[in-house]
Amino acid sequence: MRRLSVLGSTGSIGKQTLEVVRNAPADFTVEALTCGSDTDTLFEQIIEFRPKVCSVMDEKKAKELSDRLKSSDINIDVLMGTEGNITCATLDSCDTVVGAIVGFAGLVPVYNAVLSGKDIALANKETLVAGGDIIMPLIREKGVMMLPIDSEHSAIWQCLKGEARSDLDRILITASGGPFRGKTRDELEKVSVADALHHPTWNMGGKITIDSATMMNKGLEIIEAHHLYGIECDRIDVVVHPQSVIHSMIRLKDGSVLAQMGKPSMILPIEVALYYPKRGPSIVKEFDPFDAAVSNLTFEPCDTEVFRLVKLAYEAGKRGGLFPTVMNAANESAVRAYLAGKIGFLGIEKTVFDTVEKMDPSISGMELTIDSICQTDKDARIYADELIEGIIRE
Ligand code: NAD
Ligand code: MG
Repeated sequence: MRRLSVLGSTGSIGKQTLEVVRNAPADFTVEALTCGSDTDTLFEQIIEFRPKVCSVMDEKKAKELSDRLKSSDINIDVLMGTEGNITCATLDSCDTVVGAIVGFAGLVPVYNAVLSGKDIALANKETLVAGGDIIMPLIREKGVMMLPIDSEHSAIWQCLKGEARSDLDRILITASGGPFRGKTRDELEKVSVADALHHPTWNMGGKITIDSATMMNKGLEIIEAHHLYGIECDRIDVVVHPQSVIHSMIRLKDGSVLAQMGKPSMILPIEVALYYPKRGPSIVKEFDPFDAAVSNLTFEPCDTEVFRLVKLAYEAGKRGGLFPTVMNAANESAVRAYLAGKIGFLGIEKTVFDTVEKMDPSISGMELTIDSICQTDKDARIYADELIEGIIRE
């Protein structure tokens, strides 16, 4: 039985994690739930799963939830802010923390969870992009498990089972190509937020959906795979596979290629993580190889001249240090501005490139610690936000 603390329980991954729990309540207990500000969903989840404690990032919303729970005679502590997330991530009664917060905000709670000896089931890729160099050694030092939830990384993990790491030659990470696959730069100038939010195969939270449209999601995933599997970024290839049926492949030294397949659904990788090393019950629909949606699988290269953030991510992953933190922070600021209608689609890329270029001299040679990562994240956001203001004025 796993005793879970679900960080970011009201989001896409958080809700699907609770669906896995709902399907097999004897296999789990829910010790803690946290969210940013969606306290209506959190309230419903508290009624259903009865955690010992919960936390809300937004202070005002946390107070409102606390009053609402009291008037419903439900006695549970409502914490708030980053401290609240950390308390939920390090609770004595929990053994596994599900990292389902979106963005850099997930790093500090997950870091503290590892410090206090919890296994981590991780969807929140930004945590590894910014903090992989300190989190992975800590995982080994503490003897805890890093259980990947991101579907590509779950696929790679499943393919690697039983293989000697020294036999791994390359990782072939698949990408749907997003809603703008095949578009030119000119066409990308004009895409709307609604177009970008319309993902062809996956239904996900807003930020990752935009990252899929710019292909930054794949860039972040290259760095995530580098940290999870200890492989250099230039041994990871992106393969655009629009049907999203093969979730990734590995090539071994003898030339064998192993792939993991399934219809696009995050339920399965969540189950694979939470039941590891066993297998959970089947919730997803049976795989039918003759189904029209999966019977015609195609593969093409990623056009990094159009989707330039992928190239930048390779560079950031290779350089390491605080470079990926800056890239990630600038991307978060830019995606937020894009979703708010403040900048155009290609303004995201411009903001990220310019922030990385500007901050490069100040971060090279800086020591990598949790504090320097957090400070650099803050600095990069300030700079990116200034750039965005400049783009708006233009
Ligand atoms: P989402 O936007 O649907 O949900 C995010 C969750 O985090 C919500 O519960 C929100 O309230 C919470 N949150 C936001 N800021 C917070 C803060 N400061 N403190 C506490 N909670 C906060 O996002 P999602 O699509 O579920 O993605 C979550 C993470 O999983 C992302 O890092 C994403 O890249 C990764 N991921 C998602 C999918 C998917 O299918 N959705 C697939 C693979 C990986
Ligand atoms: Mg993924």
